[in-house]
Amino acid sequence: MFFDALAGQILADLSYEICIVGAGAAGIALAQEFASERVRRICLLEGGGLEYEDESQALYSGEII
Ligand SMILES: Cc1cc2nc3c(=O)[nH]c(=O)nc-3n(C[C@H](O)[C@H](O)[C@H](O)COP(=O)(O)OP(=O)(O)OC[C@H]3O[C@@H](n4cnc5c(N)ncnc54)[C@H](O)[C@@H]3O)c2cc1C
Repeated sequence: MFFDALAGQILADLSYEICIVGAGAAGIALAQEFASERVRRICLLEGGGLEYEDESQALYSGEII
């Protein structure tokens, strides 16, 4: 289930057994592993929305020298 934090959809009374920040290769693999270990309430946080956004992509900008 997806919640959009910017839309205020993360409810204060929700509690999780594990919280993983970053839904890249490592974060998704960790979440799947914990789920297979029957951890039932996992919060996987990811920056940005479901569609491309300049704002979230700007995190990856850098200078190559
Ligand atoms: C151009 C390019 C091509 C590549 N090609 C290949 C390839 O062909 N084969 C291969 O095996 N590997 C490839 N890699 C390497 C591969 O992408 C990385 O090794 C892998 O993605 C690392 O996984 P990760 O989970 O550690 O980090 P990431 O995949 O970077 O995941 C980190 C996640 O955390 C999120 N995040 C960061 N900060 C926050 C925050 N504050 N709050 C919430 N979320 C946050 C990011 O949005 C991101 O989704 C490539 C990398 C690049 C840059």
